[in-house]
Amino acid sequence: MEKFSLGDIEVRLKKIRGRTLSYRILIIENAVNINVPARARKANVMEKAEEIVMEGKKKGKFNELKDGGKIRLFGKDVPVYAAEAEKSSVGYYGGKIYLGLPQGEINGKVIEQIVKFYDEKLREVLEERVPVIEEKVGIKCKFWETAKMHSAYGKCKFKEGTIKFSTDLALFRTECIDMVIAHELGHIKYPDHGKEFHAFMKTYIPGYKKLSREMAI
Ligand SMILES: [Zn+2]
Repeated sequence: MEKFSLGDIEVRLKKIRGRTLSYRILIIENAVNINVPARARKANVMEKAEEIVMEGKKKGKFNELKDGGKIRLFGKDVPVYAAEAEKSSVGYYGGKIYLGLPQGEINGKVIEQIVKFYDEKLREVLEERVPVIEEKVGIKCKFWETAKMHSAYGKCKFKEGTIKFSTDLALFRTECIDMVIAHELGHIKYPDHGKEFHAFMKTYIPGYKKLSREMAI
């Protein structure tokens, strides 16, 4: 995979066999993954990457990791206070994020700490919400964990009864997180997205389709 930076955003290019360029903004990692058709011209790809980052910034799709900026956490914008510091650091007090930035710049170490911060916050919420939703839907999982995962917000190994949740879930409000928990628990009983599965979702999370649309970023 080829990587480069556009300002404070990391761009990651991945060659694909298909003909269509597609991309995904990774808010927590301050990055964009771009799937590039193998035959695409380099100059066109660079131009497209700049366009994606510019558009994304204009629409407020990225976290603003700078003093006076904001990050998204559980569906809300959290104000960012940033200052130059010897070591990189991420703190969260009184509903504000504090960043320590060596040379005043965002670097890989800070991003790593931010990912860890999101993961910890998500775990706190899941520890509270998973038992509540298990009780509600009458299905229990044997074990759950969190992971950096961009292809889905959750994955269920229905035979083992285990669930993996994406750290990206920490971007969304509790209703969305509850919906993903119910979805993955539902797969323990109904492995595919068939009629019974949708009936299950409709029963326990009536607004699940709307919530899914809200989570398409
Ligand atoms: Zn599913």
